[in-house]
Parts: sequence; structure tokens; C-alpha cells
Amino acid sequence: MRRNLWLAAAAAAAVLALSQWSPQGMLQTAQATAEQMAQDTDSKEQQQTETARKEKPKVALTFDDGPHLIYTEELLDGLKERKVCATFFLIGKNIEGKEELVRRMEEEGHLIGNHTYHHVKLTGISEDQAEQEILETCEKICEVTGTYTSFVRPPFGEWKKNLDFEITMIPVSWNVDSRDWTTQNSEKIVKRVVKDVDEGDIILMHDIFESSVQAALEIIDILSGQGYEFVTVDELLLE
Ligand SMILES: [Zn+2]
Repeated sequence: MRRNLWLAAAAAAAVLALSQWSPQGMLQTAQATAEQMAQDTDSKEQQQTETARKEKPKVALTFDDGPHLIYTEELLDGLKERKVCATFFLIGKNIEGKEELVRRMEEEGHLIGNHTYHHVKLTGISEDQAEQEILETCEKICEVTGTYTSFVRPPFGEWKKNLDFEITMIPVSWNVDSRDWTTQNSEKIVKRVVKDVDEGDIILMHDIFESSVQAALEIIDILSGQGYEFVTVDELLLE
């Protein structure tokens, strides 16, 4: 009885040993190792892609003075086609009748900012008036999109300090001036921007001219080809 048990145990051990050391077992072990190595390589490649993605130089396209019934829509179509998000600084009084475009901006992932209600130089008016210009525009945008923006681009780049808001407003300047409003020549606009642009730059344009829209889309195609990634300004400012 005892001997039989011992034999059974020995046989079981032998089977176990065989299964571990049989060519089949070794093949399985080799396969498992190969799979593990492949997985390691995959995750390394994934990490490298991730790093490459993170290291892509970022720039932000910004469009002031809209929305414009024709050109803003044209621009939104072009941005959607290229899967690019931009930032729009809207003039409050221009929103009337173009609510659909503003809603579309929000829905398609663009950032919406404030460019005052009447496109005024904030430093040339009283504090009360300046606050009113900003607040009215924020409220108008919020009425349409449901989002209260805290980003503002003061017209003419002139921000008035010490204004009192419940939500702190973040003034957004620019590094690259396309000067698109001085020319109707999209080729000139493209050349200027592509020559001047660098990583982390905020590009100033206006979505109220056909030439600006054409130039913007061409700029996207060229800079994307050079490895640039387009982001909204909050991504550059809040990093
Ligand atoms: Zn403006």
C-alpha cells in the first residue's frame, strides 16, 4: 500500500517533470517568452510614440473680430476637415444672428474668448464701461454656449488692469502677428506666419476675410507637415 503510493507519487512527479521538460513544454515556454518580449517591445514603441506626441511643438491659431456669417463657417469647415482646434475671440455684438456658428465652435472643441462687445480700446474708457464691455460679451457667449469664458483678448492689445470681475479674466496676447487685415493676399500672410512661427507661439489672425481663412488653412497644412500640433490657447497658457 505504502509502496503503491510512493510509486504513484513518483509517476506523478515524472509526468510533471516530463511535461515541464518535454519539447512541447519547452516550445510553450519559448512561445510565452517570445510573447512577453513582443509585449515589451509593443509597450516600448507605445512609450516612444507617446513621447513623440508629447514632444511635438505646439502652436495656437487665434481668430479675432468674428463671428462672420460666411468666413467663420468656411473656416470651421476647414478646421474640422483637418481635425484642428483653434481659439476665437468674439465681438459681443457680432454674435447676434450667428448663434449657430458659436454653438458649433463650442461643440467642435474650439476655445471661445471675449473681444469686448463693441471692439473698444479698454484703456480709453472708464473702468465701469470697460467692465461692462467684457461682462456683456461673456454673458452673450454663455447664453449661446452655456460656458462662461475667462479668456479675453483686449482689442488693440490694450488690457486695462485692476478691473473687477467675479471670475478672473485672463488676457491673451500673441507672438506672431499675421497682419492679415493689412493685405488681402493669402500667400503673403502664409509666408509671414510660416517664417516667424516658433514652438509655443500664439498666432493672431481675423476670421472676417476670405484671404485670412485661406491662409489659415494653408498654414495648418504646412506647419502640420513640419510636425507642429495645433492647440487652443489655454493649453499653452495653463501648462
Ligand atoms: Zn480686433
